[in-house]
Amino acid sequence: MRDVAIIGSGPAGLSSALYTTRAGFDTHVYTGESTGGLLTTTEKVDNYLGLPGIEGGAMAELFIEHAKSFGAVFVSAVVTNISIDPQGLFLVQDSSGQTNLYKAVIFSGGSKPRKLGVPGEELPGVSWCSVCDGAFYEGDEVAVIGGGESAVEEAMYMSNIASKVTLLVRGDRFRAAAPAVEQLLSRPNVAVRFNSSVERFIGEDSLVGVKLTDGTLLELYGAFEAIGQIPQSALAAPWAEISSDGFISRATVDGFFVAGDVTNPEHRQIAVAVGDGARVAMDAIKWLQMRKF
Ligand code: NDP
Repeated sequence: MRDVAIIGSGPAGLSSALYTTRAGFDTHVYTGESTGGLLTTTEKVDNYLGLPGIEGGAMAELFIEHAKSFGAVFVSAVVTNISIDPQGLFLVQDSSGQTNLYKAVIFSGGSKPRKLGVPGEELPGVSWCSVCDGAFYEGDEVAVIGGGESAVEEAMYMSNIASKVTLLVRGDRFRAAAPAVEQLLSRPNVAVRFNSSVERFIGEDSLVGVKLTDGTLLELYGAFEAIGQIPQSALAAPWAEISSDGFISRATVDGFFVAGDVTNPEHRQIAVAVGDGARVAMDAIKWLQMRKF
């Protein structure tokens, strides 16, 4: 039996791992599909104190190595089930078929990009990550769908690669903060279409255009959806209160803790996740110290 299972290896989970291992508790970090979480698909981070302009992948490496240096053990697997035995210990089952026993769980499952759910979305050329796929569209026209911070970031990134970036905003205004929007719109190859919703993506083998609900056809070869996040909270559902938007409001059983983006739709920031991971780990440490096993 180990002391703590941390589920998710984004900034929140890695920060928790640093605290629990430093406090002397045996810690397994279940990495999920990619160690480092969404951070690994972030191009540049400019708003993390003390590390201006760091590349997302490099930051993830720093976080991982820091957690490992205190003895966190990384399990490269996706957790498939969490149950509780009669003694109140947590049974964590993973995709390799293994089940391990823990005194406490810190659940930091993060969130995944929301999809539009319109026809043609499966075509090559439709993407949710410009850092991952943007380089394929060098010199092409592309669209970014959404009007929040993520859409502005995606569009900014693509404006360095594509010949033209058209932002398709379904309403009549941006949700992203004004300075970022101003900076984006100062780029000569960026255009915005407000009141524009995608009806379908067009193409046979790959994307060649987008049809809007007002009938407009746009010819383009890449489309990046940035319309919000879906929290990965399902596994926590038996042991936590989930709000109507799917984010976790609070844990409901002893020894089960929740941290990071899976709890917070508003402040999706690395600094916030790191702070939350630390705060929650401190609660978990107190709980482990007080509880007699
Ligand atoms: P948001 O929820 O902030 O924005 C989603 C955007 O997508 C809105 O413009 C919304 O339009 C639009 N949208 C939603 N559904 C559809 C749809 N079906 N069709 C077309 N458009 C749609 O999501 P983000 O991922 O941008 O950000 C989530 C949180 O993370 C926010 O709190 C944000 O501030 C934060 N964040 C911060 C960053 C930073 O500060 N560097 C970077 C990335 C995220 P509508 O307004 O009409 O609902």
